[in-house]
Amino acid sequence: MKIYLNGKFVPKEEAKVSVFDHGLLYGDGVFEGIRAYDGNVFMLKEHIDRLYDSAKSICLDIPLTKEEMIDVVLETLRVNNLKDAYIRLVVTRGEGDLGLDPRKCKEPSIICIAIPMPPLLGEEGIRAITVSVRRPPIDVLNPAVKSLNYLNSVLAKILANYANVDEALLLDKEGYVVEGTGDNIFVVKNGVLKTSPPYLSILKGITRDVVIKLAKEEGIEVREEPITLHDLYTADELFITGTAAEIVPIFEIDGRIINNKKVGEITKRLRERFKEIRTKWGIKI
Ligand code: PMP
Repeated sequence: MKIYLNGKFVPKEEAKVSVFDHGLLYGDGVFEGIRAYDGNVFMLKEHIDRLYDSAKSICLDIPLTKEEMIDVVLETLRVNNLKDAYIRLVVTRGEGDLGLDPRKCKEPSIICIAIPMPPLLGEEGIRAITVSVRRPPIDVLNPAVKSLNYLNSVLAKILANYANVDEALLLDKEGYVVEGTGDNIFVVKNGVLKTSPPYLSILKGITRDVVIKLAKEEGIEVREEPITLHDLYTADELFITGTAAEIVPIFEIDGRIINNKKVGEITKRLRERFKEIRTKWGIKI
């Protein structure tokens, strides 16, 4: 396995960053998780745009153009001879000192890792719980910024692990159910598809946007509206979306069974459509 690290491809064992890197010391950096399907890097441009928006939001100047960054991703896949892969693209503030002043950091570190990876949560329906860990308010640490600080999601995942379920769903401070640890939530009720709006505490998922588009193409009504616990518990169908997870139905939430533990019609249709377009929407390796 060859890793892209600051302009070079190096073996995994040699892919190392400084212990003074602010990405390690403070979670000071941004990242993307991207997938390639059969030689097509799915929604690559959109991921790169989100990476640069995250970076801009935290005042991190990425020393490559977007076109050069796209080439980094494509080259990493080529060098590793991968057509289907999960790609992790990371930009950290770089090496500084123990102080948190980012002006001490000389230049950002850029890392690209590509590995084969099946859908993260499997293809079956999953069990989930809502957890006590709240998603940070948008005026505290906006989840729209895909920063390296994922402690909030990690803590929620630990609670799911303790409860012996597959995934945790997080509420915001107001009590709306906003998103999973690394995925967005969709509720189907009476044929209408509902998902959390971007003005709440969510990462605006690229899979989320694709699913909204596909649903509209299928003639399904989509509403971006706040989701309550009651919406979850009384849903006809429930699923999460994300690059790593793809589209995964939730069969059980806080002990309530959804759709008799069967994949619902709308979920099924969207999954089929997603499988059709995932090798087409994006950039060829
Ligand atoms: N929310 C969070 C917190 C995430 O980490 C992710 C994964 N990037 C998502 C939602 C889904 O986003 P995407 O569909 O772009 O992978």
